[in-house]
This record gives sequence, structure tokens and C-alpha cells, in this order.
Amino acid sequence: MKYAIGKNGAIGELKSCPHCQSTGGYFRNMRMSGETEYHYNYDGTDAINDHIHDGLNYVEQKTLFCIDCKKPIGSAK
Ligand SMILES: [Zn+2]
Repeated sequence: MKYAIGKNGAIGELKSCPHCQSTGGYFRNMRMSGETEYHYNYDGTDAINDHIHDGLNYVEQKTLFCIDCKKPIGSAK
């Protein structure tokens, strides 16, 4: 992998996927752990759960993948 993500989140001069030419963007896998509260209303419907990620631990993985073809396109430093 010859592309590396910079401080601004851009991957060098890369503007599209080198595999499929998609401009749809890229993703990194994120490992999450922890426990959270999922809130319900008394009728069983979902309540507002804006807090759901509070208190979770995140570890972002280094490899960058194309959103469309899922192939690796670079790595984070
Ligand atoms: Zn692609």
C-alpha cells in the first residue's frame, strides 16, 4: 500500500479508488467495546438514544478500504 492518510484526513493526492475508480470515499474498521444503555418507551418503542455511544471505547484500525469495492487503498500513520 503506497498511500498514507495525512493529518487532514486526505490520502495524499488520492481522489478516487485505485482499484475501481470510485469517488464514494473510504472507511476504516473501528473496534468498539464497552456497555451502554439502550432506552425504551413504556409502549416498547425505541426512545431517544443519542447517548448510545457514550462511554464506549473505540480503536480505529489502520487500514483504509474503498467503500464500494472494499479493497485496501492505504493505511493510517
Ligand atoms: Zn474501489
